[in-house]
Amino acid sequence: MPHQSRMPTDLSARLRQVKNTIARAEQRYKRPAESVSLLAASKGRSVDVIRAAAQYGQRLFGENYMQEAEPKIALLGDLQWHYIGPVQANKTGRIARPFEWVHSIDRLKVARRLDAQRPASSAPLNVCLQVNLSRESSKSGVLPENLPALAEQVASLASLRLRGLMALPALTVDFDQQRHAFATLRLNLEDLNRRGHRLDTLSMGMSADLEAAIAEGATIVRIGTAVFGRRN
Ligand SMILES: *Cc1c(COP(=O)(O)O)cnc(C)c1O
Repeated sequence: MPHQSRMPTDLSARLRQVKNTIARAEQRYKRPAESVSLLAASKGRSVDVIRAAAQYGQRLFGENYMQEAEPKIALLGDLQWHYIGPVQANKTGRIARPFEWVHSIDRLKVARRLDAQRPASSAPLNVCLQVNLSRESSKSGVLPENLPALAEQVASLASLRLRGLMALPALTVDFDQQRHAFATLRLNLEDLNRRGHRLDTLSMGMSADLEAAIAEGATIVRIGTAVFGRRN
């Protein structure tokens, strides 16, 4: 079972603790050291808090809402910004410029729009396809059976670079169930690579299930609460 420890009260200690948890999980599950990147999920967190995290060395930040993300990116610039919220088609123009990554593509329409709207002067936008593992109609994400077709279409878009898969599995405290869901995402990625893709990214694992995600091959964990404390 994963080791549970109490959450420290200050940001630098929490960041250190999360990094230790990641490093220990890499060791325990025979993952190469530093093969898992920490993406700080900063929705609802202020510019000052994000700036403080950056001063402690955190570079990767994930945002869910454009109206919230835009002022943060404008003020804090020199960090790596990942869009991790649902992508609305009418917001793609605003997403396509400031972000380096989008984790949550689940249909061709938004991929085509992001591709068309990515500035020609920018590097290709790194993208992951979000998979609806639990098949809940309330959840976004492409269904696993539709993944190969979507991956092929997205991979053909010149201003996007298809990097991998992302999922938000149903929450459970059962470690084996957590692992099972993440293993399914990994198998989906391996299947796409057998079809000729060269995907290197599994964006999976949050505060409550990052160890299970690392055990199953996560390369980016998206952590909010364990880094910043509980959300109001
Ligand atoms: C908020 C959020 C996270 C982080 O969740 P925590 O449980 O606070 O770690 C990760 N991924 C997405 C898509 C989120 O919206």
